[in-house]
Amino acid sequence: MTHVVTRSCCGDASCVYACPVNCIHPTPDEPGFATAEMLYIDPASCVDCGACVSACPVGAIKHHTKLTDAELPFVAINEMFHAEPAPRPPQARTPVYERLRTGGATLRVAIVGAGPAGLYAADELLRHDDVQVTVVDRLPTPHGLVRSGVAPDHPDTKAVSALFAKIEELPGFAYSLGVDVGTDVSHEDLLRHVDAVIYATGASDDTRLGVPGEELPGSHPATSLVGWINGHPSHADASFDLSAERVVIIGNGNVALDIARILATDPERLTGTDISDQALRALRGSRVREIVIVARRGAAQAACTLPELTSLSRRDDLTVLVEGDLHLDEGTQRARRDGTIDPLLDHKISLLESLADRSAPDDDRPRIVFRFGLSPWEIEGARRVEGVRLGVNTLRVIDGRVTAEPTEEAITIDTSLVLRSVGYRGVPLRDLPFDPATGTVPHEDGRVRQSDPASPPVYVTGWIKRGPSGYIGTNKTDAQETIASLVADVNIGRVPLGSATREPLDSFLTRTLPGVVDLATWRAVERFERVRGAAARRSRRKVVDPELIAAVAERVSRPGGRPMRPQV
Ligand code: NAP
Repeated sequence: MTHVVTRSCCGDASCVYACPVNCIHPTPDEPGFATAEMLYIDPASCVDCGACVSACPVGAIKHHTKLTDAELPFVAINEMFHAEPAPRPPQARTPVYERLRTGGATLRVAIVGAGPAGLYAADELLRHDDVQVTVVDRLPTPHGLVRSGVAPDHPDTKAVSALFAKIEELPGFAYSLGVDVGTDVSHEDLLRHVDAVIYATGASDDTRLGVPGEELPGSHPATSLVGWINGHPSHADASFDLSAERVVIIGNGNVALDIARILATDPERLTGTDISDQALRALRGSRVREIVIVARRGAAQAACTLPELTSLSRRDDLTVLVEGDLHLDEGTQRARRDGTIDPLLDHKISLLESLADRSAPDDDRPRIVFRFGLSPWEIEGARRVEGVRLGVNTLRVIDGRVTAEPTEEAITIDTSLVLRSVGYRGVPLRDLPFDPATGTVPHEDGRVRQSDPASPPVYVTGWIKRGPSGYIGTNKTDAQETIASLVADVNIGRVPLGSATREPLDSFLTRTLPGVVDLATWRAVERFERVRGAAARRSRRKVVDPELIAAVAERVSRPGGRPMRPQV
């Protein structure tokens, strides 16, 4: 055993291309890549060169001698993936791009959305000569879910910001932040200043449960709590009732685990992070002792990933338990009996079984309790949430999918706070087609399917293209596909180049709209946050208030302007 991929694997596959001996899988050209929970190093063929360590943008790869106790299970997890000798494709090569042919003209592109999807797309585009990119976002700060979605106690995952900072420095890159496309400017306005538009707007809405009581005070989408914890301006002033002992989370994906962990963690362990000031203050007054995570299907269908579950189960400051039946479906039971089950899924189920065997210790550590086979029927309460009524399910296979079927039986769990963690959802973009079933824009290889084939082509990447799945680095391979389509379209003349004779988009937006944040201002805001954070022994204290960002911007834009000094 030499190097090991650990929990924070972002899946961008940089390590795959850096590895000289083809020992990291699945590679982007293998079928399991799109659904893999992480990448895995084959201990038998790793030659210990460390090339993958340097390539990984989030520090997820470690030498086995440097693993912490909590990371030790990842030795077995890496090994397990490679246990079955599988035919491996030849060494994955960095994708070879079709060369962009602009005939000496400049291709100008607007990318709407400054999150990982938008920035990976900018990176892919700026590998070509004669390209200028303006990344526009409705928020005055960039980096999307890395800034406002990744849990503050996962600083390793947030380390991908350093990669984003490098992309921002590429020649031809510009930011116009604080501009809402659709409100402040239209798609047509953009097209007067650029040759092509790529939408990387993510999935900013939440999926609804559609049960009575969903709108009662005390019932919130998890996305709103995530935004509040991370100082997202739209959720900064939200408030959550943390006065009761028990919180119920519906859904057991990684977002559910993130919020359960944050609610259960002693706030003093979070003081060094970039958690929002408001959330830290509220958590210090929290009385929450138990977080129940409820899933409608069984342990084999748990949406959280093995790396996250493994890390959570190793926390010694929390009690993590499974209560009740694991609802193992027949197919899974059979596959376990005859040894055909995927070893990683088997490991995940065994881990949940071991949590079910744990008896609750007689101490006052906060508890995270998993429950399976329960669907929300009603969020109960007269004027605010008092409990949640859950129907007990059986599992049936319908059209090859294990599905929850209600029985007559139901239970009620008392609580005053219900967090609905049942997935993010894309919102329609003005003038673009939208599939309400998936919350995505229909496309072919990133080209938006348009009713009028004569319309100028439009592109999508990230969650608005593929739906809310995958990890930060998944957006890299996704962006590669979209940019390959755009380059091909330019080369065959489907994207006429002519915008370079007009005013650049970023200067047009700065000239016509108040408070547009450019790269220099973003850098000043970041510095301001880090200085303010250092004074409070925190990685950064985020600026949430747009007026404060405007004040920083004003200082930066003054001739000879010096960075603003924070009043801590
Ligand atoms: P998710 O993984 O899709 O999980 C959604 C959960 O909601 C599932 O348990 C699902 O159950 C349940 N659900 C959906 N509709 C429901 C309904 N009507 N009633 C009851 N339960 C329902 O979504 P997520 O947790 O929001 O995560 C989104 C993406 O971000 C995922 O790809 C995730 O891995 C990623 N993410 C990653 C990290 C990380 O790597 N640390 C952190 C956060 C998020 P069914 O399976 O039965 O549908």
